Amino acid sequence: MSPHRRALEQGYRWLRFEDGLERQFQAFFTQGHLVRVRVAAWVSIVLFIMFVLIDLATLPAYVSIRTVSIRLALIIPSFIIVLLASYRAAWRPYLGSAVFTAALVTGLSTVAVIGSALDVGYQIPYEGILLVALFVYLIACLAWRRALLANMVTLCAFVIMEFALQTNPQARLYQIVFMCAANGVGAYGAYFLEHSIRTTFLVDTLLHELAALDGLTGLSNRRTLNIHLERVWRQAMRDRQAVAIAMIDIDYFKRYNDRYGHARGDAALKAVADVIAGQARRPLDLTARYGGEEFAVIWHNPVPGELQAMGEVLTAAVEALHIEHLDSDLGRLSVSVGVAIGLPCAGDDAAALLRAADEALYQAKHQGRNQVVVTEPVSALV
Ligand code: GH3
Ligand code: MG
Ligand code: MG
Repeated sequence: MSPHRRALEQGYRWLRFEDGLERQFQAFFTQGHLVRVRVAAWVSIVLFIMFVLIDLATLPAYVSIRTVSIRLALIIPSFIIVLLASYRAAWRPYLGSAVFTAALVTGLSTVAVIGSALDVGYQIPYEGILLVALFVYLIACLAWRRALLANMVTLCAFVIMEFALQTNPQARLYQIVFMCAANGVGAYGAYFLEHSIRTTFLVDTLLHELAALDGLTGLSNRRTLNIHLERVWRQAMRDRQAVAIAMIDIDYFKRYNDRYGHARGDAALKAVADVIAGQARRPLDLTARYGGEEFAVIWHNPVPGELQAMGEVLTAAVEALHIEHLDSDLGRLSVSVGVAIGLPCAGDDAAALLRAADEALYQAKHQGRNQVVVTEPVSALV
């Protein structure tokens, strides 16, 4: 079972997948939210510049010197760093940490703005801190846990500041209660937001898997093979490199099913598929179930002289499975392999390579099965 399906079935109440899947999700999350993070950072910078102007216009100079310095020296630079991390590909892996730092800096600095005014006996509207909490939960595109952590640290700092500097007990009570309530509302909304983003990620990946893979063996399906072959073919044409295809067919499989039953037939198909899956080692190689008991391997840029040996690795590996097949001459399950290689030229098409591999397979069957036939190159240039 794929990790995506397992995660969907087991749930993810704590908003964490197992390690490999979590890394994939983080990459999906960062990529998918890149534009929103940028917008959030730009909006923050504009808002805080506006607050600076309002401070300068409305607060007495002995207060605004403190509040403006904090906004200009701490908050705005932290969002500039977020923007840099979002625009520079090399910094992208640190984007999440940059947003977290900016959230923390903004929360603590806003506490400091309110506190530094109270310190000189000046009450400035405290509601900005509520806005910061909701912004960090819902707009900043932070992972829920990080948003919660940044906001909890800010909440603690706020409560300490209120007890240290707020002289009006009624104001203190209201402000702390409102701050706790804003955190509750924000954390609740952000949790379900991230939960549904995670669900979308899993369903999206599963849909791709379902459309691309064969259900029984987990290899690519024929549709994926055709798409991939076209892609590799074009790439090989640009790079003047060769492409080879091996068509693999299980010998006397109808008899196997007749004697051992369909369920064991399926198990044998899976075992052969696992052997074949190990034969694609380079990034552009691909293994697929072509249909029924036929498989295919695409090899990108192989050494032509090694194709026979590469095919024989396959036949030997299937033989080595030692799957009993008493209705075959060999007494064990075996495969026949047809291999074709071509150097793509303008005007050629990949289907010709598939046809050539199929003809080679036919020949291997004709010559007695459990063997490899490599055709003449499709293009004279190889
Ligand atoms: P040859 O050596 O010439 O390839 O003979 P063969 O019997 O393997 O070839 P044939 O095409 O006559 O039969 C293929 C068999 O593969 C028929 C079918 O029952 C079996 N088959 C195809 N798909 C599946 C599958 O998904 N599961 C099982 N168990 N059998 C399958
Ligand atoms: Mg067969
Ligand atoms: Mg067949």
